[in-house]
Formats: sequence, structure tokens, C-alpha cells
Amino acid sequence: MVEISLEGKVLITGKIRAETGLSIGGATVGLDIGGVDNPVVKDAEGKPYIPGSSLKGKMRSLLEKSNDLAKDESRVWVVKPTEKGEKGISIHLCNDPDCEVCNIFGRANGEFPKIDNNKRSKISDESVRIENTTPTRLIVRDAVLSGESAEKLRELKTDLEFTEVKWENVIDRITSAANPRQMERVPAGAEFEFGMIYNVFNEQDKDNLKQVFKSLELLEHDYLGGSGTRGYGRVKFGDIKVYWNSKADYESGDVMKTPINGEYKTPASIVKNFEAIREEIR
Ligand SMILES: [Zn+2]
Repeated sequence: MVEISLEGKVLITGKIRAETGLSIGGATVGLDIGGVDNPVVKDAEGKPYIPGSSLKGKMRSLLEKSNDLAKDESRVWVVKPTEKGEKGISIHLCNDPDCEVCNIFGRANGEFPKIDNNKRSKISDESVRIENTTPTRLIVRDAVLSGESAEKLRELKTDLEFTEVKWENVIDRITSAANPRQMERVPAGAEFEFGMIYNVFNEQDKDNLKQVFKSLELLEHDYLGGSGTRGYGRVKFGDIKVYWNSKADYESGDVMKTPINGEYKTPASIVKNFEAIREEIR
């Protein structure tokens, strides 16, 4: 393993706006007393939020697809599917020291089973040994509802506090029977504040930062949370600020100075002008 020492940290902040209703599920609660069967995940104050893990997982899977790493032969089971029918989780993992996805999201040593060629939901006899442990560069925080949005949603007096409830007809694919369900969602227009930390250990990490913004671009053309095929979960990122804090800045306490992305505040404009922004990371 290559020796690793921190050169600095890139901090990214900004807003995520729900362009359509957003349904990121928490645990089902209160069904027996007429509750909603697809509740939105909420914090201790009852405000909906976007878990950092959901955001990061989506960014990773979109990058895997876009970088041609999502094929079955490039993926392994990190959570195995069970005989009882519980779905496993498969992701891309490899030993290539230059792999952008593995470097950004990290990899841990271990033996991971591959996906069966004939039955995609099954485990193959073959496995991949990962022996190139890499620290995760990207940390994604939970995105919290902005104060302004919380205020507006309170005034709106939605069905539930901060959220609305919609009846959806879900068709059972086997029996074709319609199965009406109540879906809870965060109304379109709600804004969340997000934060990400990107650790920089070497020159390649500085180049790879572009991939982080590329994944946000891809996410704007995909969806976040559930029911994306029914139009839920369209999001837009805006008001992005990118800060570079070098090791020396931490030494002097001179951190979080001027954002290095200037007037480029959307994922697409940052990707387009990445070379200039990259030059500021030194
Ligand atoms: Zn890889």
C-alpha cells in the first residue's frame, strides 16, 4: 500500500432543491393506527432530511455507470443476498490503483463474491480479493432542510408537518391488481443545505475532484429517493461553494477563506471550468 499523508481538504457546501416531490423513506410507522406506509426520513425535530449515505450511494452508482464500471463482471457483493430472498447490495470494487471510483469512495481489503453470470441476483463461486485498501476521500453529510424552507412549509400547513401525502396506485406486476398506497413526500420547491468533505492525499485526488461534480451533474438528470420512475426525486444543486484548506492553512488557522469556484456555482459550470478551479488547489 502506498504511504498516505494528507495534503489538505476540499469543503463543498451548497443547496439541493427538490424540483419534484421527494420521497426518501424512513421506517414505516403507525400503519396500525392509519399512518402512512412510506414515511419520509426525519430528524429529531420532525424535519425531513436527505441522509448523506443516500446521496453518496446515488453519486457512486451514477459514477460507476458513467465510467463503465457497473457491468456485472466489475461488481461484487458487499452485502450478500440471502436464501430467504433478502436482496444483497453489489457495488464496483477493484484493485486498480488509478480507479477514480474506488479512490473517491474508498475500498477495504477482503474477499468479495462476484455476481453469478446466469442469475444476477445470486452469488457466483468466484470471488475477488481486494488488497489495495484505500481511505475514503469523500464524506457526505446529511442535508438538512433550510430554515427558509422549514418556515414556508410550516405556513403551508401541509398534510403532515413539513410533508404532503399523496395516494398512489401501485400496480401489482404479477396479478395486475391496483394497490392504492399513501405516499408521503417533501413538496417540490423545498431546499436542503448539503455539505461534503473531500480529503486530498495526492495530485490524482485533485484531478479526481472533477468526478464528484460530474456525479452531481448526473444526479440532476436522474432522481434521488424512491419512485423516480413516477417523477419523484428530481433535484438541482445550486449556490455551491468550494473551499480549499491546505495542511498549512490548518497549521495557521487560516481556513475557509474565499471559495475557489468563483462565479461557477452549479455542477455543470464547475465541471466546465474545472481546470481553473483545479489550479487553486495547491
Ligand atoms: Zn475500481
